Amino acid sequence: MLLLNPGPVTLTERVRQSLLQPDLCHRESEFFDLQEEARTRLLDIYKLDPAEWQAVLMTGSGTAAVESMIAGLVPENGKLLVIENGVYGERITQIASQYRIAHEALKHDWMQGPDLERIAARLDAGEGFTHVAVIHHETTTGRLNDLQSLAAVCRARGVRLLVDGVSSFAAEAIDFADSSIAAVAATANKCLHGVPGASFVVVRREALKQAASRTYYLDLGRLAKLQDQRNTPFTPSVHAYYALVEALRELADEGGWTARHARYAALAEQARAGLAERGIESALPPQQSSVVLRAYRLPAGISYVQLHDALKARGFVIYAGQGGLSAELFRISTMGNIHPADVERLLQGFSELTR
Ligand SMILES: *Cc1c(COP(=O)(O)O)cnc(C)c1O
Repeated sequence: MLLLNPGPVTLTERVRQSLLQPDLCHRESEFFDLQEEARTRLLDIYKLDPAEWQAVLMTGSGTAAVESMIAGLVPENGKLLVIENGVYGERITQIASQYRIAHEALKHDWMQGPDLERIAARLDAGEGFTHVAVIHHETTTGRLNDLQSLAAVCRARGVRLLVDGVSSFAAEAIDFADSSIAAVAATANKCLHGVPGASFVVVRREALKQAASRTYYLDLGRLAKLQDQRNTPFTPSVHAYYALVEALRELADEGGWTARHARYAALAEQARAGLAERGIESALPPQQSSVVLRAYRLPAGISYVQLHDALKARGFVIYAGQGGLSAELFRISTMGNIHPADVERLLQGFSELTR
């Protein structure tokens, strides 16, 4: 079965085999070697200076890393503006509410990109915003939100940006040199091609100085401090770390994030062009979409369930639209061990269905 959902991904044999390494106690030096290799390699992807940045690992899915980032990096007296244009933006608002963080949500239609003028006006209204949270690749629609322009708006106002990069990290450009970016949260089992269970926040050391401690298990400040000392507060998912490290080695061997971007871009274009030939339209134009996942309009007369089941019988798992978009859209991600021949077979499956 090939997984075309946005994580967990179809593993390569190399990463799958890495799960079969020796049992490790997480208090032994062998584990801390593994933890250090993961942390070092995560920074290396975007060539980040370890004196300025730190990769903080945790056991949990991508949401754990996002929650840790939001709960940890908005200071006690800070205020957060959440840019919402899909399910994952809404999730950040829910996290902020649950931790009683002072915040406001700037809601957008789910098919629209962030409205920079509205955002700038909100920040200029002078109500003490210290941070903006945004989803880089909003997986709800496949939209790649324009991080660079948003960062410029934030930088000009001395506001820090907290980025959910869960479905873009290692596949899309992220300008970490922009001083407004305080942190990016992501996970092992999307564009990195590891297994679920390990996630992380790449955080500016400077931002940790004002860290808040609102949560026990996901306390970013404590995780950061202990990991810098080759330590860990709790039992990590050791096997997920094995897979993450092997996936990071594989990514480096394949040419790093730019090579992964190029690979995904080719697969996404192959799928888009093939579906367009079969009368199935993309929900967004390619230049507004990530290379990681695309949303498509359901063909007339075919429900998502019919499409899903027919493709599953042919060996492919596709993904439904979320929320109000579930009756209109379906989604195809080409992250993981997916190759052009697989997309070709998928397109043949569509031909048989839409004939
Ligand atoms: C997948 C995803 C998440 C996290 O989902 P988990 O199920 O917790 O791994 C968060 N944000 C975005 C943009 C995502 O695509």
